Amino acid sequence: MRVKILFGIISLIGFWNIGLSQNPVDIHGQLAISGSKIINESGDTVSFAGPSFFWSNTGWGGEKYYKKEVVSWVKNDWGATIVRAAMGVDDNGGYLTYPANKTRVKTIVDAAIAEGIYVIIDWHSHHAEDYLSQSQAFFKEMAETYGDYPNVLYEIYNEPLKVSWNNVVKPYADSVIRVIRDIDPDNIIIVGSPNWCQRIDTVADNPITSYDNIAYSMHFYAGTHTQWLRDRTLQAITKGIPIIVSEWGTVLADGSGDVAYTETNAWVEFMRSNKLTHCNWALNDKSEGASALKYNASTLGNWSANSLTPSGTLAREIIKNWEHSYVTIEDISEHTIAVLYTQANNSIAIEPMAGEHIHISLCDINGRELFHNQAQYNTEISTESLTPGVYILRVWNSNGSMTFKFVK
Ligand code: MG
Repeated sequence: MRVKILFGIISLIGFWNIGLSQNPVDIHGQLAISGSKIINESGDTVSFAGPSFFWSNTGWGGEKYYKKEVVSWVKNDWGATIVRAAMGVDDNGGYLTYPANKTRVKTIVDAAIAEGIYVIIDWHSHHAEDYLSQSQAFFKEMAETYGDYPNVLYEIYNEPLKVSWNNVVKPYADSVIRVIRDIDPDNIIIVGSPNWCQRIDTVADNPITSYDNIAYSMHFYAGTHTQWLRDRTLQAITKGIPIIVSEWGTVLADGSGDVAYTETNAWVEFMRSNKLTHCNWALNDKSEGASALKYNASTLGNWSANSLTPSGTLAREIIKNWEHSYVTIEDISEHTIAVLYTQANNSIAIEPMAGEHIHISLCDINGRELFHNQAQYNTEISTESLTPGVYILRVWNSNGSMTFKFVK
């Protein structure tokens, strides 16, 4: 009998263990929207971070990275808990003329399912209302194929341009959501907001109320969008609007320019404090500031630091330091103990089987014991006062012990 894993979010940064690591989807399961937040199957508020693939369009260059090896690499090396497959639709080389785009998306979704991470299926169009029937048919197929997998989120409209929320985007969304919900009752659906996903205020004035588990996208580029957009977004959140940053960049909104470090940091703090799930634009080697990869970077992942651009280097650091969804669980002669390290919260949670008597010892790298306790129920250790460094936690009972290291 295993103890139910109730804890949410921990960081993998510098964290390794001798036990068994579970994947994000194993831990969090089916996601849902509660108020303005994403919650996991246990009801805990969660957020996820990862990269977005570039437009999938045939001949645009980014399509070569739509490979399962890339998903595996960003999960394991970047600590990504989510990826976004951005299927080009109506532009040159898009899905409407090249069905191969759908195959690329399915490659990414299948890989995300295999890796146990979340994945956004993105209808990457600026004019989705012009292709309603095609969108309905596509999402019907996606819901039939993937609706039972908790991994999948549907993003039905990437970035509406300067069109009306009330008269254009919302009616389109209602029509597509209805098709998805006929098949898949629960997976989260993300709806774009006007003006390249910056008019989240128009959504907040008239949200979709006929369906559950609907979220809205806000996109920012740190070189262009600043405090005013954080203020507007916070107002929407305060009104109860759930927001997912399905796309953001470190550079100018057109994808050019240098990394805007100060504004990127301000945005990251904003997303962290509001627990916003986010995907960085983009996994591509095109010669522009927003690309994470340098020209000709391998299409199979395995990227060295030299393969990453300044934006890719920063995005990887941000994603690696996000609240990751890893947990260490060890069966000591079938006596399950779960240990969770949440770097962002400075805490270690230790969860034995109810009533199981355990010992807990925390040592520094020199073996000096800093904490020792005996417990029968959930125990939390604050790491706030620890100086940065490597620490070793040991948990044992009469049947055996588990040990792992983490970096503060
Ligand atoms: Mg479902």
